[in-house]
Amino acid sequence: MKKISTLLSVAIFVMACKAQEQPKVSETTEKSSYYFTHKSKLVVGIIVDQMRYDYLTRFYNKYGEGGFKRMMNEGFNCKNNHFNYVPTKTAPGHASVFSGTTPKYHGIIANDWYDKDLKKSVYCAGDESVNPVGTTSSAGKMSPHRMLTTTFADENRLFTQMRGKSIGVSVKDRGAILPAGHSANAAYWFYGKDQGDFISSTYYMNDLPQWVKDFNKSDAAESYLKPWDTYYNIETYTESGTDLNDFEEGFEGKETATFPYDLNVLKDKNGGFDIIKATAYGNSIVADFAIAALSGEQLGQDNDTDVLTVSFSSTDYVGHNFGVNSKEIEDTYIRLDLDLERFYKALDEKVGKGNYTVFLTADHAAVDVPAYLQSVKIPAGYVNTKEERAQMESFLQNKYGANFIENISNNQIFLDRAKIAEMNLELEDVQEALVNEIIGYQNIYKAYSATTMSTTSFPIGLEALLQKGYNQKRSGDIIFEYNAAYISYGRKGSTHGSGFDYDTHVPLLFFGKGIKHGQTFDKTEITDIAPTMSALLDISFPNGAIIGKPLEFVLD
Ligand SMILES: [Zn+2]
Repeated sequence: MKKISTLLSVAIFVMACKAQEQPKVSETTEKSSYYFTHKSKLVVGIIVDQMRYDYLTRFYNKYGEGGFKRMMNEGFNCKNNHFNYVPTKTAPGHASVFSGTTPKYHGIIANDWYDKDLKKSVYCAGDESVNPVGTTSSAGKMSPHRMLTTTFADENRLFTQMRGKSIGVSVKDRGAILPAGHSANAAYWFYGKDQGDFISSTYYMNDLPQWVKDFNKSDAAESYLKPWDTYYNIETYTESGTDLNDFEEGFEGKETATFPYDLNVLKDKNGGFDIIKATAYGNSIVADFAIAALSGEQLGQDNDTDVLTVSFSSTDYVGHNFGVNSKEIEDTYIRLDLDLERFYKALDEKVGKGNYTVFLTADHAAVDVPAYLQSVKIPAGYVNTKEERAQMESFLQNKYGANFIENISNNQIFLDRAKIAEMNLELEDVQEALVNEIIGYQNIYKAYSATTMSTTSFPIGLEALLQKGYNQKRSGDIIFEYNAAYISYGRKGSTHGSGFDYDTHVPLLFFGKGIKHGQTFDKTEITDIAPTMSALLDISFPNGAIIGKPLEFVLD
């Protein structure tokens, strides 16, 4: 025993001397090269705006092998993945996916919201302190400054001493800006009207890089001003409703919401180049631009992991316009599948198979057109918000002799707190009285005061979703939710925003480096995605990611 321990200590001594003899620099290089060669060179985070989970299965037989199916066949499919807060809207969705937290912490409580201090509505990405780049339009005055926490792309920037890049791409500014985070190298979004270019802001740069200028000069947008017809024979689209029905809005200048749509003819009455965003081609141009970004930004070419965020937003415009059961939606997803295939092939070529990791999810889902649901006897309907507000105001007038409502937006009521204090009333009492009043309204299903949200903990159910969406500093005095499938929207087209399953259930697919093959029906939540990516890269979690957890079962 003594011999062994003597031998051991000699060995340890020799090893220690050897280690000391080695120059420190090569020791670190050796360790880091092992570490970094086992890391993903590029993480691609894809958001498909308004994608319901069932689009993966409903249109499955129409998809090719290289897009959605490639992710399902090679990667991991979380089939019971949900948003865990209200409101299920674009800006909170993008912020939550990449920051691993909810509006409660990241502060993006809606797309536009009423700012209590400024006493006016603000836009999630609007920033008067920056200037447009690549356009003279105020569409370029954007930054992520209203988001209060970091995204995993920010943490990757910090970890790599800013060597790992973060680039965000989308047709929507908020779809490009929020995911890429505060420290992003660039976010690029599409500006339509009479221009048809990808633009940015001085938050990121003073001038567009040459590859973006070249892309814009190549008349990429002009090439999509062409007829949009179904990719396959429309007769084979048996997974969606009839093309001609009462539930679709369609485009200005065309009598019926039926294929084909000639964008070159319709463009003048539909916002010029903006019409591209509202068709399947909006996703194609984003795929083109994302592919150009791989070379343009030299993504995934060295040992520092880069992050590319891509948001396909045209799916949302098409859903709002034609509804989730339309032929237009089916064709948009068939074409998006082909765009994804093209994008993944480019990643294989430029970054290399097995060198990159992709996840794909949505920022929210959407409800079937309520008028359609009614036609098949499913409870659904429409809310008249003007009438509702008038009813609230007359209640307050009768009870207090004053109207305290400053603003109603995103199912939140903002009260005039100064006036309430002036009249020596307790804020909580006014909140509670209004909650008790509106819960009696036919279409309002849930209503809670800010005081309740701040003092009561709701672990499950719709209340928990409302609470995770409630931001103590930014949210209103009362939050409410309508009955399932009741919306404040026109009778044509779909929308979203609630805590019901049709709005919360979205795809979550992972594939590539570090990802197992498999699937699960275990419930996963949108706030798990960023911690999972942080775990994949073995870096710090986003700083507000105190709700989500890494999905260990998807990691190799
Ligand atoms: Zn939308």
